[in-house]
Amino acid sequence: MKYLDYSLTEIIEKLKGGEVTSVELVKECFERIKETADLNALNSTYEKEALARAKAIDETRGRGEDVGVLGGVPVVLKDNINYLGTRTTCASKFLENFISPYTATCAQKLHDAGAIVIAKANMDEFAMGSSNENSAFGPVKNPVDNTRVPGGSSGGSACTVKARQCFMSLGTDTGGSIREPSSFCGVVGIKPTYGRVSRYGVVAFASSLDQVGPLTRTVRDNALALSIIAGADPMDMTSSQTEVPNYLSDIDKGVKGLKIGMPSQFFTDKLSPSVRSSLDKAIEWYRENGAEIVPVELPSVDTALAVYYVISSAEAASNLARFDGVKYGVRAENYEDVVDLYFKSRTQGFGKEVKRRIMLGNYVLSSGYYDAFYRKAKRVQKVIRQEFLSALEKCDCLISPTTATPAFKLGEKANDHVAMYLTDIFTVPVNIAGVPALSLPCGVDEEGLPIGMQLIGKHFDEAMLYRVANAFELAHKEGK
Ligand code: GLN
Repeated sequence: MKYLDYSLTEIIEKLKGGEVTSVELVKECFERIKETADLNALNSTYEKEALARAKAIDETRGRGEDVGVLGGVPVVLKDNINYLGTRTTCASKFLENFISPYTATCAQKLHDAGAIVIAKANMDEFAMGSSNENSAFGPVKNPVDNTRVPGGSSGGSACTVKARQCFMSLGTDTGGSIREPSSFCGVVGIKPTYGRVSRYGVVAFASSLDQVGPLTRTVRDNALALSIIAGADPMDMTSSQTEVPNYLSDIDKGVKGLKIGMPSQFFTDKLSPSVRSSLDKAIEWYRENGAEIVPVELPSVDTALAVYYVISSAEAASNLARFDGVKYGVRAENYEDVVDLYFKSRTQGFGKEVKRRIMLGNYVLSSGYYDAFYRKAKRVQKVIRQEFLSALEKCDCLISPTTATPAFKLGEKANDHVAMYLTDIFTVPVNIAGVPALSLPCGVDEEGLPIGMQLIGKHFDEAMLYRVANAFELAHKEGK
């Protein structure tokens, strides 16, 4: 491995300076992908197409023409992001052979910036899960310890970046699916403000919570990647018109004089001792470097998980109604009538966790229960959101652990879905409030397992998260 240890930012410079060609990079990625195939991070790979595109980009560059900010850089997309002509499976048997009929806006923006999509990453089926064990194509292994989960649902996206199969990936986050795997694998991942990145062409799980975000090995790389994919999109009416700032302009300003809020509800006795001590050290570091740590309260945050499972399942049940065996995806072979066709196709096509969410979602939306569950959850969501806004008025951002423990063992929580849901206890409230949050490595436990800290920001203030994260990363260096 010659070049894959470099960060995205570094490799862009090397490509520009002619030290390496895009063809060489793509070849190295595929060597590495083959070497580390047992991680099962990828659902589809595009070696021939990627090499052809790399060759074309090298030639364009050779002629002195513009190749874009990411000109010739190999990237990976989560397998729920459409990219024309490639398979988009959502790691579901239902879409095993589904070919993207068009390209998602986020993928198009990467493409237009010159990136080369080399593969689609494995994930939990339809992005439902926290361990990547819900994939129809088998679990992904944590690249740091192969007996452990990489986290989910963007487990393949985190794994492929950590395992150095590529320079960056995209994931999606509805309740923690970028941040939790980033934390478990030791990479940097951001869930941008709701509306910051277009969802057009990304297969919907819970439309009011879903966001796309980049996973990278450094904070600076992440800021660069977000600046490329962010922005308004006429194809997504929930995408925001708010201008995209330059995320790199303030990134080196340090933390002196900043206020970092510490929500007491996120520092419970449920934290494992290694997570607790890593967070304590990080907070101490911020204090020593001139930030003021202010205590803040999020009194209703313990209701967020319940609110999340009502709202996200309700939306999932509606979104997944389109998978009926008629329009696309698998169709059951022997059926009696159209109802039987729906029933059999859905029974055969969906995995267990997806069925559980659909049943839960239809239940909370059904007449008689709608008020008691769905409407109530939407009301509590407003309270949680308001609490975040009030807490964030007192400071520039919040700090918390991303997860209560480092990565757990494969199979450990597979039969206990409540324990699995509890993994997201610190990440879910952020989606409920719609604010941005980033996870970055902040140490390892006694076994060398990565520990992540979460920085939570004001709406559309991703720049602050990058600034605060970058200061820590530069001083600790292990984040790369
Ligand atoms: N783990 C959570 C769930 O299973 C979050 C998933 C996500 O963010 N896509 O719903």
